[in-house]
Amino acid sequence: MSFPDRIAIASRNPGKIREIRSICADWPVEWVTADEHEGPWPDVEETGTTYLENARLKARAVAEDIGVPSVADDSGIEVDALGGAPGPRSARYAGEGATDEENLRMLIRAVAGVPAAGRTARYRCVATLAWPNGGEVWAEGTCEGTLLSKPRGTGGFGYDPIFVPAGWDETMAELPAQEKDRISHRGRAFRALRDLVARDP
Ligand code: IMP
Repeated sequence: MSFPDRIAIASRNPGKIREIRSICADWPVEWVTADEHEGPWPDVEETGTTYLENARLKARAVAEDIGVPSVADDSGIEVDALGGAPGPRSARYAGEGATDEENLRMLIRAVAGVPAAGRTARYRCVATLAWPNGGEVWAEGTCEGTLLSKPRGTGGFGYDPIFVPAGWDETMAELPAQEKDRISHRGRAFRALRDLVARDP
């Protein structure tokens, strides 16, 4: 397997696109995004129940529609005190079409009664690269941490203002972007994906 000349990023989430481009800055490819692409771009419904199903749906739809190999990331936060919720439903935790802000407020409310020591959680990301002809590779990354009851910081996106990665005092939203990329679920998943693509057959 080797790198194609061009790879599309099958996402409309600006936070994700920014991070993927930065994490994968050393990939020898030209990136294609919905904003820069001329012509139609599919809107994909995330009907899967797992990260892998949803990542596949997104990557495959864009690859087949525009004829360019495509990467997708499906990710979420898993809170132990909530039995692993919201998980793959993280983007829709406060309802269909909810904003990051609304989802964050909902999670803060959901863990309000949980003692600090019990607020363990992890981010998980499945990154997939799909070719228009049907080939596919995928990899997973996680990042362990704990949740605060009040948001801190302005970086990152989503649940970052309350997520403190294990071994840090800062929230993900207080860490410099390069530091987040180094330790994040997304950084880990996309570096593992790169190794798979770069590996000789
Ligand atoms: P999806 O992968 O498009 O289904 O959405 C993932 C959702 O999980 C995002 O909308 C965020 O709510 C959350 N999420 C995933 N990765 C991160 C992250 O790096 N920081 C904060 N929230 C994240």
